[in-house]
This record gives sequence, structure tokens and C-alpha cells, in this order.
Amino acid sequence: MKKVLVLEDETSIRSFVVINLKRSGYDPIEAGTGAEALRQMEQHPDIKVALLDIMLPDMDGFEVCRQIRAANSRIGIIMLTARTQEMDKVTGLMTGADDYVTKPFSPAELTARIDALYRRVGESDEAPSDEIVHGPFRLNTRNRTLEKNGERVRLTQVEYAIVKLFMDNPGRALSREDILNAVWGKDYFGELKVVDVNIRRLRIKIEDDPTNPSYITTVWGYGYKWGF
Ligand code: CA
Repeated sequence: MKKVLVLEDETSIRSFVVINLKRSGYDPIEAGTGAEALRQMEQHPDIKVALLDIMLPDMDGFEVCRQIRAANSRIGIIMLTARTQEMDKVTGLMTGADDYVTKPFSPAELTARIDALYRRVGESDEAPSDEIVHGPFRLNTRNRTLEKNGERVRLTQVEYAIVKLFMDNPGRALSREDILNAVWGKDYFGELKVVDVNIRRLRIKIEDDPTNPSYITTVWGYGYKWGF
């Protein structure tokens, strides 16, 4: 069964999510507090996607996200946010989330997001054996790992997919829509901003000087390019 962690302290919302996940063929693992969520993650190492509410009785959902991500770089994380401030979305993505859904959300929207993430996380088990080397970078598409100058760079699944897309298209300007479609899927409901935030996070991980990027360069008014 495809396990999904559902961290939400409001029982009415949690039940609503759980019922809809079961209907879509998922096996929801429930948690009402941050501590309970972290315990469930330890008990169910096969959880591949986590939905995390932000306002919780015991701790901040961003902190839960940070701790889950620190222990597991492959899991897909979606933040459930009731707030609409852009900053919260950005903070969530910067702490390691892959996506966010703003409440109130429709079951169809939430399921589409989970399906997209689950598909991508699942792909890690069937990738063909290959290695792409560019400059200081070595991308292993079998293990889905990236090394820079021989040192491992820890990437989320989304970040890995972006780097792979760039390395498959060296020197080519990719529009933000190209990146969104290739990495998140054509039926993704979200905004282009998610591309920019992930690129910003990726630059922090791989650039020598993230404020003056030389590997992932900006193509103004269009998108990004992998070239050096
Ligand atoms: Ca809450």
C-alpha cells in the first residue's frame, strides 16, 4: 500500500483528507501533533509522501518538515497552509518541502498533487544505470545522487529532477514553464514561483557563490540555463 503521512491537528480536516486518500488508493498514516508525526515516520519508513499542517499544538509544521527532511532526503513533502502570505510558502519550500496546498483545498487538487509527487518519488526505484558528468558535477541516475568535486550533495527528489533536466539540456535556455512541466507534470495546479524557489534552494546547495551563480544562470524574463 502507498503510505501517506497526514499531520493535521484539526480532526474534521484530517478525516476529510484521510477519507479522500483512502478513496484514491492510499494508506493514510495519521498524526495530530508534530511529535506524533515524527514517531509515525520512524515506525513507517516506507512512507513516501507527507502532508504537514503548519499550525500545530506542540510545534511548528516547518520544524517538523526540517526534521523529516534531515532524516530522509527522498520523501515527498507537501505543506498544508491556511495562511496566504507568500512568505509562508517560501519558508516551507526553503525548509525542504516540495509543494504546498492552501486551505481550503478540493480533494481533487490534493490528490493530484500527491499523485504527482508519489509518481516522482516512486521513479527512484526503476531508473536506468547511467552517469552524467559536467564540470565538477557527477550525476548518477541509477542511485539518483549528485556529487560536486567528489563530494555528495544531498538533494530532494524535486531538486534531483531539476538538475537532471538541466544536465540533459546543457547550454539550453529552459523556460520556467518547461521546468514546471518536466518536473512537476503537465497537470500540476501550482504556480511558476515554485520553480524559482526550488532553483534558489538548489543554488545554495551547488553554487560556489549562490548570490552570483555560475552553474544555473538566469535567463532574464524567460527562465534558467545550465551552462558554464
Ligand atoms: Ca492546524
